[in-house]
Amino acid sequence: MAKSPPVTYPCPHCGERVLTTARVCRSCGFSDEYDESYGDYDTDGDDAFDYDDFVTREFPEHADPQSSASRKQAFVKAVILAIVASFLLTLFF
Ligand SMILES: [Zn+2]
Repeated sequence: MAKSPPVTYPCPHCGERVLTTARVCRSCGFSDEYDESYGDYDTDGDDAFDYDDFVTREFPEHADPQSSASRKQAFVKAVILAIVASFLLTLFF
């Protein structure tokens, strides 16, 4: 069996080489827990990508229960209602 070198990655905090098996950076004590959950989010996104959830995460200022499509639908409904209402008003008054 060939000897494989220890697998390391650069610590996102201090840049020191950290063993992938190590949970915490030996140099600065940085924990990779946050990055791990972020990676899970990225890979899981391929299977069940929730666009609304993504927008809410990435653009909190655009987080809106109504999408632009449903807003357009609501606008069309309002216009139709207004037309019908004015038509009824001309019939009865
Ligand atoms: Zn570090």
